[in-house]
Amino acid sequence: VKAQGLHGYRFFTALMNERAQARRRIETALRQALSRRELSLHYQPKVDAQSGRIAGAEALLRWQVNGHELYKPDQFIPVAEDSGLILPIGAWALRQACKEARLWQRNGQAIPVSVNVSPLQFQHADFYSWLDDVLNESGLDEGLLELELTERMVMSGGDATTGLLRRIRQRGVRLSLDDFGTGYCSLSYLKHFPIDALKIDRVFVHDLTSDRDTATITSAIIAMARSLNKMVIAEGVETREQSAFLRHAGCSQLQGFLFGAPMSAEEFQQLLAATT
Ligand code: C2E
Ligand code: CA
Ligand code: CA
Ligand code: CA
Repeated sequence: VKAQGLHGYRFFTALMNERAQARRRIETALRQALSRRELSLHYQPKVDAQSGRIAGAEALLRWQVNGHELYKPDQFIPVAEDSGLILPIGAWALRQACKEARLWQRNGQAIPVSVNVSPLQFQHADFYSWLDDVLNESGLDEGLLELELTERMVMSGGDATTGLLRRIRQRGVRLSLDDFGTGYCSLSYLKHFPIDALKIDRVFVHDLTSDRDTATITSAIIAMARSLNKMVIAEGVETREQSAFLRHAGCSQLQGFLFGAPMSAEEFQQLLAATT
């Protein structure tokens, strides 16, 4: 082994150890986060592309201690998934989102809430009965709950998955395919899946106004989804140009910093009260 290669190898293993340690640190702290009430949901508005009015909200997990963000979801959610902690955390998030959306409904500001579901939750044998319990317990109108699933979850499961999706939908809950375009879901598969909506990933939205090919692909996705009677939502909308393009291309709803960043439940409730 050459000196440089050996050095590179040592550097690499040191880096790996550091990463593994960081993950263990996060995991240890995360085990206590729920009982210490450090986790909360923030809400980001989804607006109607035509009227600009709030048409829904996505619930996004936050981990805060004394008002400071401890870790970002992209750091702690993968750890939660690997350790299985996503099961209690995801169950909590679903219950919490339904509770808060029920409050909006009570206040006469009924809008659907979207909750992200991780593969581990979705594959769990009890997922359906669990969802059913949460709905019954919260009293939320089932039409006001939407689950965001990823392509991989929907694609890989075969008949059992399709059956589960059907049951969930028959229960009245809406289903949305998240991060569309980044996985391997071909558009032609879409017609087989009992889903209501798809969310165009923000990598497409980001390049929309600078790259012609991205614009063409995005328009095609929207047109085909619409012809299959699926609703299309664009995420990560940051500029007026992106917004105008997506509206003209036929997106039904838009979500992104242009319309509002994720905010605390209190802030979101105030926003709702001020605009409806
Ligand atoms: P996601 O489901 O794709 O959520 C959208 C992410 O984009 C959110 O990041 C949101 O804050 C961010 N975002 C919204 N508008 C804009 C914009 O205009 N520009 C840019 N650059 N970003 C924007 P966040 O909150 O950090 O969440 C990251 C990911 O963590 C989520 O991606 C989702 O995969 C996961 N996640 C968050 N909450 C939950 C949860 O309750 N359960 C599960 N299983 N996963 C969650
Ligand atoms: Ca999502
Ligand atoms: Ca997404
Ligand atoms: Ca994502």
